[in-house]
Amino acid sequence: MKVLDLRCQYDHAFEGWFACEQDFQDQLQRGLLQCPLCGSGEVHKTLSAPRINLGARRLPEAAPAAPAPDMADATQTTAPDIAHLQATLRQLARQALAQAEDVGPRFADEARRMHRGEAPERSIKGQASATEAERLLDEGIPVLALPTAPTETLH
Ligand SMILES: [Zn+2]
Repeated sequence: MKVLDLRCQYDHAFEGWFACEQDFQDQLQRGLLQCPLCGSGEVHKTLSAPRINLGARRLPEAAPAAPAPDMADATQTTAPDIAHLQATLRQLARQALAQAEDVGPRFADEARRMHRGEAPERSIKGQASATEAERLLDEGIPVLALPTAPTETLH
């Protein structure tokens, strides 16, 4: 499992979970990756998230993030301010959650239905265990981990 920090053309930062680096490239090329905030498909990789440790190795070839006027301080490569970074992520997560349809515990099922074309493509939010998220990724379904507390996700 690989967690990548992604950014859209408008400099919205978000996270994507992938089975591997190649999985990310495949999804990117197939246009499956979208910014959760604005829906832009112009997505690129920044740095791996410093707080993630789901067994993924750090990116060996992580390129320095391009300087961004607004959030450069949240993505400093040398000495990341974790608290600030998390605060930024939480804020972004709230925005993303506000726009997403809440499917609650049906998240994994709904993600699969969207993947199969049985349900309309849209932003959804809900609960999934790490195991479920990993299964979705194994099936080639892009899911996004949002750093919110369970209570915030539920309500
Ligand atoms: Zn965006």
